[in-house]
Amino acid sequence: MERLDSEVIVIGAGLAGIVASLELLAAGKRVALLDRDIEANFGGLAKESFGGILAVGTREQRRAGITDTPDLALADWISFGELDAAETWPRRWAEAYVNECHDEVYLWLKERGIGFLPIPHWVERGQTQRGNSVPRWHIVWGTGQELIRQLLERLRSHPRREALALHFGQRVEELMVEDRRVVGCRGRSEASGRPFEARAGAVIVASGGINGSLERVRAHWHADWRKPPATLLNGSHAFADGTLHDAVQAVGGRVTHLDRMWNYAGGVHHWRPRKPDHGLSLVPPRSALWLNWRGDRLLPPLVTGFDTRDLVTRVCAEDRQYSWQLLNRRIALKELAVSGAEFNPSIRDKKKLAFLRDMFLGNRWLVDQLRDNCIDVLCADTLPELVRKMNALQGDEAIDCGRLVATVVAYDAQVVLGEHCQDEQVQRIAQVRKWRGDRLRTCGFQKILEPQAGPLFAIREFIVSRKSLGGMQTDLDCRVLDAAGDPIAGLYAAGEAAGFGGGGMNGLRALEGTFLGGCIHNARRAARAISQ
Ligand SMILES: Cc1cc2nc3c(=O)[nH]c(=O)nc-3n(C[C@H](O)[C@H](O)[C@H](O)COP(=O)(O)OP(=O)(O)OC[C@H]3O[C@@H](n4cnc5c(N)ncnc54)[C@H](O)[C@@H]3O)c2cc1C
Repeated sequence: MERLDSEVIVIGAGLAGIVASLELLAAGKRVALLDRDIEANFGGLAKESFGGILAVGTREQRRAGITDTPDLALADWISFGELDAAETWPRRWAEAYVNECHDEVYLWLKERGIGFLPIPHWVERGQTQRGNSVPRWHIVWGTGQELIRQLLERLRSHPRREALALHFGQRVEELMVEDRRVVGCRGRSEASGRPFEARAGAVIVASGGINGSLERVRAHWHADWRKPPATLLNGSHAFADGTLHDAVQAVGGRVTHLDRMWNYAGGVHHWRPRKPDHGLSLVPPRSALWLNWRGDRLLPPLVTGFDTRDLVTRVCAEDRQYSWQLLNRRIALKELAVSGAEFNPSIRDKKKLAFLRDMFLGNRWLVDQLRDNCIDVLCADTLPELVRKMNALQGDEAIDCGRLVATVVAYDAQVVLGEHCQDEQVQRIAQVRKWRGDRLRTCGFQKILEPQAGPLFAIREFIVSRKSLGGMQTDLDCRVLDAAGDPIAGLYAAGEAAGFGGGGMNGLRALEGTFLGGCIHNARRAARAISQ
């Protein structure tokens, strides 16, 4: 058996683990960072992420004429997450985040050379529950890839680099307890199966959520979503399988709200999968018609940007729990996007001209990639031809062409009337276009069957699993709490593993950007608590 020891063990080399390690090194600690993955994937999900971070009262907001305060953000947060007063730790974490994110997350990143796009995005505005009252989603210039690149550079060139031991390919399976204190962990090498034992004065679990295991996602499926869909795609980390959640529970730690998840309704199959059932999460175009499996329009209309959870709830309420989006090439060029670094090369690689070209002329590269490679993306010159392809993909004749033509013609007739029409989708499009950031990415009133805007596209969209909103319950020092609410000596949790703080600081819904932001915020708090 291989043995190692350190002052602090950090399990998981994602964003939370990296930030905790950086802060611990700065505080003079010796750190062992353990990860099951290979070193090429150092950075975990954040490296693949889009890099949107919720921040309050920023320079970018002020420049865009937005007045924002922690009080306003907290009111939005509590309403959107339906966080009631009994949820003590999630509420405290939410309060801490809105009050501290400006200095502890946003400025901390800026001081480390990380910049943001000039206009914050306005996501999760809320539908039945009030959401973001103002735009707060700040996108890292360079996406999550740049975020991780910069932080890893600092880690690797740290003046105390020799105090950091990196161990990749090491799967942690259990925590070690002696005299009611967590003193380390045990596991085995992924490659050789050789067991190891690591000892330290404190252990931080930063191993991510449970959403990389579709079995766990199904087991914890929220009651609001009826039953898990027959086809579910994986948009999380292959190793986010809950092994450490079990290990924490085995030593008496409390794990809460695992049925709260931030899944998306716009999932399509990745054509170069890096894990089983690998799904991409599309940002569903607002000007597309959102249809159920029979080709009937989902009414009231589904429009992205208001309540991501509601989109999932609505699709899961259907007999077959997937949906279709119907659009044309003009809409696709302007509005179609894929979340994450992989399919946003101009932002990821910080290419200003390409970014402006994509924004003003449309993202031809992305639309062509999806059309040519993705099994769920269909294209045709006429609606009858498209319906034939949709039915062929579904394997039956569920979509009635005549009914769908009538639906589209009726919608197009409303579109012509502009913002004064009766159609809620068109009204919402008019609403979002009032914000500069959305106007650039949303078509003016665009008919589906306009001949010059073709060809037509149909996209079959599945639910794609993404983030765990629940997790290990922690106090504000990130100490893992037991069933009685007492801290377990020596045991800390950070990042998605801790439900981004308190075992679920977002509540039922997230204002978005609280995931990356939450990892930075609570990892810094964990390191500070240990150092003090
Ligand atoms: C495509 C995409 C886009 C996203 N966009 C955004 C966004 O714009 N804004 C936002 O806020 N969030 C976004 N997210 C979510 C965000 O990236 C994650 O919530 C966050 O990065 C989680 O970080 P983490 O450090 O907690 O966990 P992870 O990144 O999951 O890292 C956990 C690490 O632990 C390791 N591990 C797991 N189990 C074990 C074990 N048993 N033993 C040893 N090691 C183990 C894993 O290998 C992994 O490296 C996005 C996610 C994806 C996939």
